[in-house]
Amino acid sequence: MQPSTRISTLNTEGSDGWEVFYRARQRATAGEPIVELTIGEHDVSTDPSILAAMDASARGGHTGYALVPGTHALRQAVATRVTERTGVSTTPDNVMITPGGQSALFAAHMAACDPGDRALFITPYYATYPSTIRAAGAEPVAIAARSEDAFQPRPSDIDAQAANAKSLLINSPNNPTGGVYTHATLEGIAHLCQTHDLWLISDEVYDTQVWDGAHLSPRSLPGMAERTMVIGSMSKSHAMTGSRVGWIVAPEEIIAHLIGLATNTTYGVPGFVQDAALFALGAGPELEEKIAGPFRRRRDLALRILEQQNILRAQPPSGAMYLMLDVRATGLTCRDFANQLLDETLVAVMPGESFGPAAQGHIRVAMTVGDAAFEEALSKVIAFAKAQVAKGCA
Ligand code: PMP
Repeated sequence: MQPSTRISTLNTEGSDGWEVFYRARQRATAGEPIVELTIGEHDVSTDPSILAAMDASARGGHTGYALVPGTHALRQAVATRVTERTGVSTTPDNVMITPGGQSALFAAHMAACDPGDRALFITPYYATYPSTIRAAGAEPVAIAARSEDAFQPRPSDIDAQAANAKSLLINSPNNPTGGVYTHATLEGIAHLCQTHDLWLISDEVYDTQVWDGAHLSPRSLPGMAERTMVIGSMSKSHAMTGSRVGWIVAPEEIIAHLIGLATNTTYGVPGFVQDAALFALGAGPELEEKIAGPFRRRRDLALRILEQQNILRAQPPSGAMYLMLDVRATGLTCRDFANQLLDETLVAVMPGESFGPAAQGHIRVAMTVGDAAFEEALSKVIAFAKAQVAKGCA
């Protein structure tokens, strides 16, 4: 039997360079001391207090079907949080709880696009973006942000692709670049969305990890609440990646349709997971800082170390748990750099091309191991880069 064309053609890009990740995983599983600076997984587990709340909820009987759009209490907590953080009045009817940000990304594109519609996204991109858009039946259209602009997208580049498009997906703080979009960038994007009548799908799953300035949700810009869907998640903010709990914030009528979609796909999120998320949100900013703090620290540490050399050029990350390094001065492609680095030093990083051609010439370093191990690994990356330059000169 043949699988459908739709399912078998989902993942046509984003596979470039992922062999580094798979090779590293395989070697680590086989017992080699690989330092994995590849994917966005914290080096801490979910806080015991959150697990206790999950346990109490499950043992208290919250193990049956939960309401499809989410428990009222969690929808309310998300609405209150969003209102407080953005100043935009948000009610539980603007919120649907989803199994993580990923399913919210899919749902948002299902809500915005009909089959064949053009759906814009910015590259470098989070690995699932084009295939998520394709899964929703739309046509992914990439718009390159440039390394020389610190990967802030230019509104003029978006404008050039916007005719007949239905949606624009953005991500700030950004994975993989660590960039945080400026007020001017977001205003330019908001203006474009209004001019071209685009839905803005704003992936804000790293909104608690901002190192420079403050997070600005474009939903709060004038005229944007009615055309913006915000993707949120407990994965990064509360180290709850495996719990699969996030949300989508959107106009009420969109949420009503999305509940219909969820009824036919996910059928909601387990009640005990939602109760754990409710507890976690209620625990306040101290817990969020406990999760975000190590990334801020390692980012500062990395910039101090990188200052002492001039081969690897850092894009100083303003947010999220990643660091992009320009490796072009070594003369290697980013893929060769990452593959050889793994073989020679047992340090695994992601080649930029895994996140689209706009990230060619760069590697992404996830700051996801303890400080001492991180410092040692980064020193090995630098030593490896220096050795390449020395070879080139020899
Ligand atoms: N968006 C971005 C930018 C991400 O980096 C991730 C996960 N790495 C997600 C969405 C999805 O996260 P989750 O489904 O765990 O919420």
